[in-house]
Amino acid sequence: MNQRIDLHLHSTCSDGTSTPREVVRRAAEAGLSVISLTDHDSTEGVAEAQGEGDRLGVEVVPGTELSARNDGTDVHILGYFIDPEHPDLISWLDTFRQARLQRAERIVSKLNRMGLRVPLEQVLARAGPGAIGRPHIADVMVENGLVFSVDEAFHKYLGYSKPAYVDKYSQSPARAIQVIRAAGGLACLAHPGLYRRDDLIPEMVSAGLDGIEVRHTKHNASQVARYSNIAAENNLLCTGGSDCHGDGRGDPIVGTVDVPFSYLEAMRERLKSGGN
Ligand code: AMP
Ligand code: FE
Ligand code: FE
Ligand code: ZN
Repeated sequence: MNQRIDLHLHSTCSDGTSTPREVVRRAAEAGLSVISLTDHDSTEGVAEAQGEGDRLGVEVVPGTELSARNDGTDVHILGYFIDPEHPDLISWLDTFRQARLQRAERIVSKLNRMGLRVPLEQVLARAGPGAIGRPHIADVMVENGLVFSVDEAFHKYLGYSKPAYVDKYSQSPARAIQVIRAAGGLACLAHPGLYRRDDLIPEMVSAGLDGIEVRHTKHNASQVARYSNIAAENNLLCTGGSDCHGDGRGDPIVGTVDVPFSYLEAMRERLKSGGN
């Protein structure tokens, strides 16, 4: 049977608009057999997603997408099959949660000084209990009629080098890879096609990178070929997913990227053979 999978999905536990339960329902409707919930700097939604997955017959691989930075470039590292209870991972995520909150406060005060009504309480309510990010601030700006769209909020205020931009707290990709591996997981470089910094890959490979996200909504065919080759040359796994952030954020939609089931089988093999 041709089993369909999607290993890159966000929920309300970071900047997605569907709850973890809804993400799994969407996956079931789309006929997927295995997914991973990969919220930014969070594993909070994994248990809820797994509970719903048990009911609907969708396997949920515990995941996360850690923020890192190297040489001025923001790099995301996906962690798969992690133990969400691992103390190193928990303390890592706690630090990021605090830092994201402080950053949101700084962005909001910059906006307020510019005369824009963006109350912190409203942003916090919008973010809920999960990892707070710029999209939540953008949502409030749309809600309050300050901009027409989230995109406009990023372009005018929140994007890199724009007036309300604040750097995100971050760690090196090497440290992110280490914490994922310490938590028993596979560390995979997310959407390398978006950075245009393939020169950063060798250092991550040396740090123990397990895989590369080859299939992604924003990768074209030549990027898929390129990253498949890089993976093969470095004995890395291939992964893939839609990076869906929910209906409220438009495309992409759960299950819309074709991810070979063999990717997942190879990931399981590597875990079994103690490659980690
Ligand atoms: P943060 O983690 O707070 O730095 O926010 C980064 C997230 O914002 C990304 O994961 C995207 O989901 C979203 N994002 C980044 N740039 C844009 C943009 N130009 N328009 C809409 N959303 C964006
Ligand atoms: Fe996001
Ligand atoms: Fe990402
Ligand atoms: Zn993502």
